Amino acid sequence: MNILITGPAGSGKGTMSEKILKRYAIPHISTGDMLRKAIQQQAPYGIEAKKHMDNGLLVPDEVIHQIIEARLKEKDLNNGFLADGYPRTLPQAEKFDTILNGLGKKVDAVINLTIEFEVLAERITGRRLCPSCGAIYHTKNKPSQSDDVCDVCGSKLIQRSDDTVEQLKVRLEEHRKNTEPVLKHYRAQGIVHDVNAALDMDTVFKNICAIIEGLQ
Ligand code: AMP
Repeated sequence: MNILITGPAGSGKGTMSEKILKRYAIPHISTGDMLRKAIQQQAPYGIEAKKHMDNGLLVPDEVIHQIIEARLKEKDLNNGFLADGYPRTLPQAEKFDTILNGLGKKVDAVINLTIEFEVLAERITGRRLCPSCGAIYHTKNKPSQSDDVCDVCGSKLIQRSDDTVEQLKVRLEEHRKNTEPVLKHYRAQGIVHDVNAALDMDTVFKNICAIIEGLQ
């Protein structure tokens, strides 16, 4: 089973991806991870990608095409995969389909995590991070025991500078603008499954599992 997962920042996409990978033991295709690795290794396309990533922009499609083509031919993907953060634009989706087609494969399902702005705003603006040990809290859903102090290491908690409603609006609009054509492309194939990501994590995961198991 070849699955894509998409959803805006704060929708729980990272957590759900981890759970899917673990439960179904399928490999992960993450262009974000591949780009970060290329930057670390100072590969030529990593240097090009970094300029865009540092400015919060998408990396050009040609760069993504280059890195993904070789990856899709690797043998570990023969029994399926979970693609996360890819394809992010319509040309990427078209290229993806063409490469898969050439390999006798196709995308079986797109899991689209949906969440209302208000829910996302509450999740994101209440988020607090520990700058020393990386622990994550939420003022309402997972408060630290003592106001603004990390339970693990005692450091003062911070709020990420882009965890604001204004930044959230920008990020969501960017996500919507890029993802909509990709979703439209896959909706025409009848393979998009909208999943309500505002529910509790266990229920979201249960609903995703029902979709995946319906494919087998
Ligand atoms: P991610 O880890 O998926 O959130 O990706 C981190 C950053 O890498 C994004 O903000 C983009 O700048 C870049 N990136 C990752 N995947 C893609 C993609 N498929 N197309 C364009 N840019 C990407």
